[in-house]
Amino acid sequence: MKQTKLWINGIWESTNETSKLTAPYTGELLANVAKASAGDVERAIEGAHQAFKSFKNTTAYERAEILYKVVEIMRERKNELAEILADEAAKPISAGLTELDRTIATYQFAAEAAKQSTGETIPMDAAPGVKDRIGYTKRVPLGVVSAITPFNFPFNLVAHKLGPAFAVGNTVVLKPASQTPLSALAMAEIFKEAGLPDGALQIVTGSGGELSETLVTHPLVKKVTFTGSGAVGLKIKEKVGLRKITLELGSNAALIVEPSTPLEKIMKRCVGGAFGFAGQVCISLQRIYVHSSIYEEFTKAFVEETKKLVVGDPHNEKTDVSAMIHPDEVSRIKEWIEQAKQQGATVATGAEFTERTCSPTVMTNVKSDMKIICQETFAPIVSIVPYDTLDEAIALVNESELALNAGIYTNVLTDAMKAAEEIEAGAVIINDIPTFRVDNMPYGGVKMSGYGKEGIKYAVEEMTDLKFITMKLNYE
Ligand code: NAP
Repeated sequence: MKQTKLWINGIWESTNETSKLTAPYTGELLANVAKASAGDVERAIEGAHQAFKSFKNTTAYERAEILYKVVEIMRERKNELAEILADEAAKPISAGLTELDRTIATYQFAAEAAKQSTGETIPMDAAPGVKDRIGYTKRVPLGVVSAITPFNFPFNLVAHKLGPAFAVGNTVVLKPASQTPLSALAMAEIFKEAGLPDGALQIVTGSGGELSETLVTHPLVKKVTFTGSGAVGLKIKEKVGLRKITLELGSNAALIVEPSTPLEKIMKRCVGGAFGFAGQVCISLQRIYVHSSIYEEFTKAFVEETKKLVVGDPHNEKTDVSAMIHPDEVSRIKEWIEQAKQQGATVATGAEFTERTCSPTVMTNVKSDMKIICQETFAPIVSIVPYDTLDEAIALVNESELALNAGIYTNVLTDAMKAAEEIEAGAVIINDIPTFRVDNMPYGGVKMSGYGKEGIKYAVEEMTDLKFITMKLNYE
């Protein structure tokens, strides 16, 4: 049986306590995972602080070279890494390979960003009475970053923390989700091989709830970056004090489909956005608002396309949808669907369950206050709702307190721009699903969906301080 260790100061360390990691699809035991104590996390933070003293003085060229090397190694090991995702997250192989391609792109963007950190020259003589001074800004690293990550993109969301942090010379203590430690631990080896100095990356595994206090409030931690649920994000925000913080939280992404849309061209894409990784994606398509003139046609085609999806073993290349992350999640979503049905909703297709899976489910006749609409389902469920005017559709999208990405399909330019202006969201995606993301775009929610932005260039800003330097050019 695989026994994992903590990665502290470049050494694998055993722990007294371990926890069992099981595969979401089969329930089979995958590993005994090291359970860090608060003391272990303290040592990791102190080690990262020591490592920062020299890592901050590495050149941009050296840091970029490390990140480029990570890109090279990950390209070589892609297939093997995708198997880890299938095991520990039940991520279908095809989706796992897509995640790895994106992860590689994320590290590549980070390597490029390492070389692009620039400041600006300030025209000092524009202030009254000032002459013979130069002034400029530069971005400086913060020190130790605490990074806490979720289970759903175990490589790429870790990359969105490690990539920008290392690009600018920070060091990191990473606490991956308890369900997906193996992918994070694989990154320890990869970064070591790529030449990252010992101590710059520390990986502690164990319960987020138990380790939270130390990870978030230790005096040597200068920045907390968290991706996960809103409930946990709020707890962290309350503890973090004056430290810098980024929170990437959940959502219930909405899409508006206007009558000018060629439905046959978007159907596959919409179904993919709703059910990819069993809907366990923060920008999974959850609410589809369709103009009443095309509602019947859209719903029929959507249901037909949904029925084609293959539910099964994540290791099988033909599988589209596999297990949910835990059987408790299946029970939760079963309950939400039952509750919606009792309140008048209809199951158009799906809602078939095993202990570990939920089949792709399409709901109609839903109301705004049902949990499957107003909360984040984080499951393979989508609701289709008719509307009569664009104003009404935008109002329905904006009813939610969750607001990461939103999408609209329309061929009418003025309607597209009206939606872009009036929809409250971190991003408005025109003529595509809200599930669209590439890794250099600014990304982050508004309202209850987050605080701060990722996307390498934007994360770099959040992981550095702006320093101003001025010099008087003479002694007069
Ligand atoms: P989660 O339960 O909030 O867990 C996320 C991480 O936080 C895990 O490492 C977890 O550790 C840790 N944690 C748990 N309790 C904690 C506490 N009290 N203090 C500090 N850390 C704590 O989320 P999840 O189920 O893994 O992921 C799903 C959620 O993430 C969804 O809401 C999804 O929308 C959101 N998400 C957002 C984005 C985005 O970019 N906006 C991207 C992906 C996912 P343990 O595993 O040990 O509990």
